[in-house]
Amino acid sequence: MGDEQSPLELKRHMNDRTSRWIICLALLPVAAPLWWLAGEYSKPLLGGPELECANASISLLVFLTCVTVWRKYVRWSRGRAVGTAGLCGAALLQAALAIPLWSVSGCGEREVLCTSQTLVTNGIAIVGVIFIWWWVRLFRPTGRDPREPDMTPNMVRMTLSLALAPLLCGVYWLTWAATEKFGGGVHYALQAIVSYVVSAAVFLTAWLMIWRKQITWTTSRIRWTWIWSALLAISTACPLFEYFIPNGGGWLLDVIGALGPLIALGVYLVATALLWRENAPLIAAVATGDAERIATCPKCTYSLRGLRELRCPECGWTVTVDEFVDHTLRRAAINRD
Ligand SMILES: [Zn+2]
Repeated sequence: MGDEQSPLELKRHMNDRTSRWIICLALLPVAAPLWWLAGEYSKPLLGGPELECANASISLLVFLTCVTVWRKYVRWSRGRAVGTAGLCGAALLQAALAIPLWSVSGCGEREVLCTSQTLVTNGIAIVGVIFIWWWVRLFRPTGRDPREPDMTPNMVRMTLSLALAPLLCGVYWLTWAATEKFGGGVHYALQAIVSYVVSAAVFLTAWLMIWRKQITWTTSRIRWTWIWSALLAISTACPLFEYFIPNGGGWLLDVIGALGPLIALGVYLVATALLWRENAPLIAAVATGDAERIATCPKCTYSLRGLRELRCPECGWTVTVDEFVDHTLRRAAINRD
């Protein structure tokens, strides 16, 4: 509990974990240009094969960054070290060998297939490593062993969310390559739809699994989560515009046709962030010990101020005093980032 002197003071500082997470975030904008550079300069520098060098060096950069950035938040044991080395090593080997999953012939097909394989294996390796390091923080968020590094469940979830970036890019292009090979020459707009559908299914499953336990599920939150998820799923049909209006229905339809699902994903992320955001005043109130404002119904957030019994007049939720205190403390502890 090193940094818990004064909650008010604490709020004005970016904490150590958040700063480390941003360093990992920096991998997103630099990965693609570095991939290109590594391929371009592998010939003159190493005389080596371009694709293998590009994919392997990006994988190495990603794994080294993750381990360097998070090492002090991992309670290292022989098992965790071996697991980490094994997963990263396997993904690195996959990238360096660049053996396509199926035979490819066309121009650039091998690049697309091998690179998407690398993105998928890197994403899976990172998710695996996160589970090896912090599965206890995810599945037993309270009751942290004081000898364990102070990793919070929210930060584990944010790190998992970052790992979705390579994973989803890889899933999209891997599906694209598969439809190219086995699709019997279907229209490229249909290839895009299939790729978007598979990626959206992976994303929705992962996103809901990552955050599900962090959300107080009210009836309205459940309903709106369904609605937004359905809209995201429907948006994968956007490339149909390109299929039915092949000679261009104006720039707007072109943009929607090509990028509609990506825009929908952006909207979905913002929507779920706003929809799932925990009763912020409650967390602030717990942090500052403002007892009056803590008294809200955990189920429907209705104010319980001035009541003489722990029964919510709005939704009928009722508990014992110790359960209520425990619940409040637990939410405060879990919601640190
Ligand atoms: Zn209530």
